[in-house]
Amino acid sequence: MDDEALRQVQRELGGLIDPEICGQGALAAAQVDGEFGYDSDLEADELAEELAARFRAGPHLGRLMLVRDGVRVAVGTRERVLGAEDITAGGEFGAGDRAVLLGGSTRYRLLEFACGHASCGTEYRSFYDERFLPRCPTHGAMELRLAGAAP
Ligand SMILES: [Zn+2]
Repeated sequence: MDDEALRQVQRELGGLIDPEICGQGALAAAQVDGEFGYDSDLEADELAEELAARFRAGPHLGRLMLVRDGVRVAVGTRERVLGAEDITAGGEFGAGDRAVLLGGSTRYRLLEFACGHASCGTEYRSFYDERFLPRCPTHGAMELRLAGAAP
């Protein structure tokens, strides 16, 4: 992805992202609490909803690297994502309402991946693409499991 394409993607993400982090170098050096992979087919409002669900499910998360089709494009911040949702959703989702993880949307669901070792943690994706499956640094490819299921 060249700089122009990157800027275009960031314009589309608008109020969800940290405007200070825009260049490839800044993205590479950005301090984040995790990654959020998504597909370029995802509509902006769907992405905003998925991101909000991710932040709500992880209270420790402040900043997430947005990975579009496997490419780092921006850093989403908790304040901006949840703030934007408050404006657009009008309190449709209760704070801390985990039900949204289990299928609040009828169009897609949050996918959870794990390597099978409880100590290794989980990764989340809003889409399934064999090219971009998350990997555990120790055990290799992670497997899809139902979001919200017991480990
Ligand atoms: Zn592992």
